[in-house]
Amino acid sequence: MAAELERFLSRLNAEIRDEADWGMVATYIPELAEVDPQQFGIAVVTADGAIATAGDAERRFSIQSISKVFSLACVLGRIGDQIWARVGREPSGARFDSILLLEREQGRPRNPFINAGAIVTTDELLTGRTPRDALSEIVGFLRAAAEDDDIHIDKSVAASEAESGFRNVALANYLKSYGNLNNPPQMTLGTYFHQCAIEMTCVQLALAGRAIAGLPGAPSVVSAVKARRLNALMMLCGHYDGSGDFAFRVGLPGKSGVGGGILLIAPGRASVAIWSPGLNAYGNSKAGTVAAERLAAHMGWSVFA
Ligand code: GLN
Repeated sequence: MAAELERFLSRLNAEIRDEADWGMVATYIPELAEVDPQQFGIAVVTADGAIATAGDAERRFSIQSISKVFSLACVLGRIGDQIWARVGREPSGARFDSILLLEREQGRPRNPFINAGAIVTTDELLTGRTPRDALSEIVGFLRAAAEDDDIHIDKSVAASEAESGFRNVALANYLKSYGNLNNPPQMTLGTYFHQCAIEMTCVQLALAGRAIAGLPGAPSVVSAVKARRLNALMMLCGHYDGSGDFAFRVGLPGKSGVGGGILLIAPGRASVAIWSPGLNAYGNSKAGTVAAERLAAHMGWSVFA
């Protein structure tokens, strides 16, 4: 299967580049606005442990909101179901940085993958610990999951977001006003911006997703029950208000980030990372979504059949 998959990915890479329908890079984080949108990479780790890649699969990119899956995994490992007192698990149907939704729900974010929910998750990880320790836990989790210590935070991306992330500042202050932030807003946000600024390659991210996909031989960083729950949340909330469209087109749980990455899980079968920095109207990778759709169709991977 590995050689056939490798051939398919190389065709897919050529198609995506030919079509050149890249979308727009995120501009609200100045460092991300500098990235060339005409890039595409994909890495697929299958249940037999083989890795197939194409395009820019070894280039590092900013994982941004994909980090929210891993910070939630850390929190679930630490306090389990207690986190659900502070954050819901319903799809949002609203933009990832919606302030309106947070006001309507009186400070309890709809799910842990929209920004407000992820800020609460990070705040929980920070409770009783320093930002350095909380970040070490998230980066350490990723390193253990990928079995690769060469995973780091890009400090210039974190600083860039700290300078321009006014909506997140508003969300954190709102959460604080509702009593749903344990730490000072600036401290939680600083940690959150650094977590979003972790950079990884497609190969590293696909390897890190093996445990969530429940692949044989994956490092045991998360229990099977928690992995199932992460998949359920990714399916329903992983692409914000584009989650329904993604489920319809791809049929697999996924998590996107504004850096243009997508972590895609075919439970029991494969862990996939796709990167193309141009975004669609929902803030999800445009070419990456197309690639996910074609890969799932080609392989016959779906959680619905
Ligand atoms: N760091 C980004 C933000 O908070 C993450 C958003 C995303 O990737 N969708 O705005």
